[in-house]
Amino acid sequence: MSILKVARLGHPVLRQECQAIDPKAITGPEVQRLIRDMYETMAEYNGVGLAAPQVHHPVRLLIAGGEADDEGRPTFRIMINPEITVLDEDDRLGMYEGCLSVPGMRGWVERPASIQVKAFNEKGQQEEFTLEGFPAVVMQHECDHLDGVLYVDRIEDMTRFAYEEEAERYFDMTGEDFGDEEE
Ligand code: ZN
Repeated sequence: MSILKVARLGHPVLRQECQAIDPKAITGPEVQRLIRDMYETMAEYNGVGLAAPQVHHPVRLLIAGGEADDEGRPTFRIMINPEITVLDEDDRLGMYEGCLSVPGMRGWVERPASIQVKAFNEKGQQEEFTLEGFPAVVMQHECDHLDGVLYVDRIEDMTRFAYEEEAERYFDMTGEDFGDEEE
C-alpha cells in the first residue's frame, strides 16, 4: 500500500468531470489497489472522506465517513459511480467544512440534510440507502469532487471562509464543529 499525493486547490484534476468505473472492473486489482491506497492516504491525513480525483485519479470513486458502528467506532463507505437524490430540498444543514485539497481552511456551507444514495460498493454490489445529518454532508462533499466541484464554490458568505486557527478563534463553531476532520 502507499500514501498518495493529495492534489490541492488549483490543480486541474480537481476541476474535471470524473469517469464512471466499469462495474465489472471493481473487484479487479487496479480498482482494489486504488481503494486501499485511498484508505491509507485518508487515514494518514485524518480525513473523514476522500475522492479519487484528490489523489490524481479522475474516476467516480470515493470514501465517505461520518457514521459509526454500534460501539461508536467510525465507519466508512466506499462508493463507486454514486448517484444522490435529495429527499427534502428545504431541510438544510450548515457547517464549517474543510477539505484535504484546501488544507488549513474552513468555510460555512449549507446543504440538504437528508439524501438517498445509490452506488456500487467495493465488492461490486449495488447499494441503496439514506443518510441524514453529518454523514449526508460528507457524502455530498465527496460526490461534488467527482463533478469537479469544491466546497469553496458553495460558500455563499465569504466572510465565513477562514484559516482554521482564525475560524476556531473568531467564529462560532460550536454545535456544528466536527473537530479536525477534513474531507
Ligand atoms: Zn474535499
